[in-house]
Amino acid sequence: MKTNILKERLDKGPVICAEGFLFEIERRGYMASGEFVPMVSLDHPEVLENLHREFQHAGSDIVEAFTYNGHREKMRVIGKEELLEPLNRSALKIAKKVALDTPKGSQPNLMAGNISNSNIWKEDDKQAQKVVEGMFSEMIGWAVDEGADMLIGETFYYAEEAFKALEVMKKANLPTVLTISPMGENKMRDGKSVVDTCKELEQRGADVVGLNCFRGPATMLPFLKEIRKAVKCHVGALPIPYRTNEKFPTFFNLPDRDDCGCPSPHGRTFPTALDPHFCNRYEIGQFAKWANILGIHYLGVCCGANPMLIREVAESVGLKVPASKYRENMENHFMYGKNKRIPKHMTDYGDKA
Ligand SMILES: [Zn+2]
Repeated sequence: MKTNILKERLDKGPVICAEGFLFEIERRGYMASGEFVPMVSLDHPEVLENLHREFQHAGSDIVEAFTYNGHREKMRVIGKEELLEPLNRSALKIAKKVALDTPKGSQPNLMAGNISNSNIWKEDDKQAQKVVEGMFSEMIGWAVDEGADMLIGETFYYAEEAFKALEVMKKANLPTVLTISPMGENKMRDGKSVVDTCKELEQRGADVVGLNCFRGPATMLPFLKEIRKAVKCHVGALPIPYRTNEKFPTFFNLPDRDDCGCPSPHGRTFPTALDPHFCNRYEIGQFAKWANILGIHYLGVCCGANPMLIREVAESVGLKVPASKYRENMENHFMYGKNKRIPKHMTDYGDKA
């Protein structure tokens, strides 16, 4: 490998990576929830490009191509396998375009190719594993073709699938990030512990190991502490911005609050009715700060992320980003501001408002 540009940056300090494109594109009305196929790169490339730019404006140093779920198996499920390569290439081209167009004053962005959980990986099923390897290989090939600066493998809940992803990624000779996503059993589905999986990923040559998705700050941080102690390489931390807890460690089974007036028709809060569990920006900022204090430099937010939360992560670890220009300024609020021009009859009324 030539110089490892990702590692060089992480050695100097925090690097921010916005994830969570799936939820945000769905929220904006360009993707069917549940099905979750990123057709947006073909159907509405301008929407995807703009979201990348918003994350970049908010401080993301990495432009991750939105190819999550854009793999052969998912395209087979929806009967559009012929669009697989165009979808991937379009997502990669959009990401590259934005990465090359970094705002003034920011560090040049890195474009990341992306592979993730296939959902057909099965223990002891060599044939299924071979199919998954093929899916990874073709996607990494397109990412390299389209000029990826680094590769991200993410949201793996089988240790062996993560190892296979890394093996394929490493052949491309680019910096590699491998983040895993243990489900509610608090271990990998093939039985390996979370920490042991990260240790093994490091031994197998990942530049960054860590956790993304499924878990909010409260149920991700305890694992991160252990991982940080157990490995020497850089660690990544990209939680979901939802209030998971010991009883419900992931967002899949979070029950609704008692005051919900109209539960979701499919019977669970995931993925369309999680709103009442949303973390506020300060909670996300605090998480990033704590992670950074632990020595974790690869930081971001996964499903549920929005540009405001990415700015919060960046600023919480001492970075100034283009969107810092518009940071909150309660000073000038019409009732709660301290500005001398705010009339007293308005500031006095604040508690009754
Ligand atoms: Zn996610």
